[in-house]
Amino acid sequence: MQKGNISVQTENIFPIIKKFLYSDHEIFLRELVSNAVDATTKLKTLAMRGDVQGELGEPVIEVIPNKEAKTLTIRDQGIGMTGEEVKKYLNQVAFSSAREFLETYKEEAALIGNFGLGFYSAFMVAQKVEVHTKSYQAGAHGVTWVCEGNPEYTLEENDKQDRGTEVVLHLSEDSLEFLEDQRIEDLLKKYCKFLPVPIQFGTKPDFEDKEEEAEADKDAPAREVPNIINNTHPAWKKNPVDLTDEDYRKFYRELYPFSFEEPLFWIHLNIDYPFTLNGILYFPHLGNALELQRNKIQLYSNQVFVTDNVEDIVPEFLRLLHGVIDSPDIPLNVSRSYLQADGNVKKITSHITKKVADKLEELFKKDRDTFQGKWNDLGVFVKYGMLSDEKFNDRAQKFTLLEDVDGKFYTLEEYQEAVKPVQTNKHGKVVALYTSSPDQHHQQITACKDRGYQVLKLDHVIDSHFMQHVEYKMDQLTFVRVDAETIDHLIEKDEQRESVLSESDLKKMEELFKSVIKDPQAIVQTKAMSPDEQPVLITRPEFMRRLKEMQTFQSMGGASFPDSYHVVINSNHPLIVGKLLESSSGEEGEEMAAYLYRLALLQQGMLKGADLTAFAAKSVSLL
Ligand code: ADP
Repeated sequence: MQKGNISVQTENIFPIIKKFLYSDHEIFLRELVSNAVDATTKLKTLAMRGDVQGELGEPVIEVIPNKEAKTLTIRDQGIGMTGEEVKKYLNQVAFSSAREFLETYKEEAALIGNFGLGFYSAFMVAQKVEVHTKSYQAGAHGVTWVCEGNPEYTLEENDKQDRGTEVVLHLSEDSLEFLEDQRIEDLLKKYCKFLPVPIQFGTKPDFEDKEEEAEADKDAPAREVPNIINNTHPAWKKNPVDLTDEDYRKFYRELYPFSFEEPLFWIHLNIDYPFTLNGILYFPHLGNALELQRNKIQLYSNQVFVTDNVEDIVPEFLRLLHGVIDSPDIPLNVSRSYLQADGNVKKITSHITKKVADKLEELFKKDRDTFQGKWNDLGVFVKYGMLSDEKFNDRAQKFTLLEDVDGKFYTLEEYQEAVKPVQTNKHGKVVALYTSSPDQHHQQITACKDRGYQVLKLDHVIDSHFMQHVEYKMDQLTFVRVDAETIDHLIEKDEQRESVLSESDLKKMEELFKSVIKDPQAIVQTKAMSPDEQPVLITRPEFMRRLKEMQTFQSMGGASFPDSYHVVINSNHPLIVGKLLESSSGEEGEEMAAYLYRLALLQQGMLKGADLTAFAAKSVSLL
């Protein structure tokens, strides 16, 4: 037997391994299984070149817990190691890469998925590790390496018959959870679900189909078959031409077994220059959901799960998507802050953005009806993207859609063309009229339609930001909500209507309404409108309302903008010109003014409290 010191360095990294990464101890399993996969893949490559004697069969990796012995074994049928290789790879290569990892980790405890600690991660959970291995090389003798969590090791020959490596972990007392079947299986499903070599964890009853499973007699012994954890050929590794829509949907369910939603559509990413990246991104149903689900995209490196926190790799708006990205070119054992500055990562990020824009544009061009049908879900995503990414914005200008109150869709360009003749104001700007609530603005929408205006429905939280953004980008377009002004003034024109009332009568009317309206938020004004319009109207000027909304959204402290509204008296309405003016100084006039004011509030859904009670009482007495 040989004994030796792994490291000539005085520093003992074992206590550091044990102490560090406490919350991430579980990654040891990923690291060891990955090594087993590498060893198996290498063997297959050698076999293809004819460098391996005998039949390979289908090599499997096994994970075997032993509760009595308190050991967890990871066994592969890969290339194995000779005694010299053990000394070189385990004592030197693996040891120095572990030390390097810990060095980086000391400075920045946020390495991506804590990838790269490698073989020595075994000592996070084990107090003693045995490696029994036999090289594939002809005439090789098996060897056993043992290390008890300190820099000393022993190496001796064994009589292992079959090729491959067996890593036996003698678990520490505080890591016995890794003997529990459920815990191991969960971990394997998390990290190893798509590894390219079959991973076996115990056996399971052999049922041909689900029905049989349900009918099976619990007492009858079922035939056991290997319980294979992983799908060795995940869809993202395949050629898109070989996949049907159903394959993509099936893979989505494989990724998110607990999701009941179907994806809207998907993008298969297949890039091999200037970096390698495969993946499938799914567009989920977003609807009007405000609580947008992030962290659904899973990052893999050569089919090994790394993390579902892709913050520094995928731009924020794209994180609304679901799916998988697999790229060996994303550096994983660097700090997250370094990652953002990495050239490859920047390229990857902008490439993904471009592909997503390509896909949306393609769908829009090829099948506009379908695209429109999905706009309710897509809209939030596209608008969010436009707001957050300049390049995406430029692309999305072409396919972002506006929907009017009758369900008709326009691109930004089309809407402007359609409404230009009637909806251009005196400053030459096209006025896009919109409602945030078709029910609440029914009266105004009807008035707009009567004038041949096309009213858009923009009712998502993101829409106020979106409109602001579009106005900023296209300065010939301005958005105005239908209740921002009286219908005559929604679109500012040069011609002004004449007022029937004299200056002094107008003043009188204003005073009358001011005397009955108790709400400090109300601003009373008279306007010469068509006699056919309502006698009294409530409007909420666009600018003030937007300021208020912005303040609410950002919940800024300090003095708050008043939630004011205008009470507009139609000074040409027959009721105002006639009966109200006549009785303006008496009690009857006051009652009438108050009633008209409340009627206007009612139409805005703003009539509440004492005003509502008074209005109801008055209405009954009138009848
Ligand atoms: P890495 O896998 O990143 O190279 P590790 O510390 O995990 O680093 O392993 C170091 C080396 O030890 C590997 O490169 C490999 O040569 C060898 N090794 C580890 N596990 C096995 C195994 N199961 N079979 C064969 N060789 C292995």
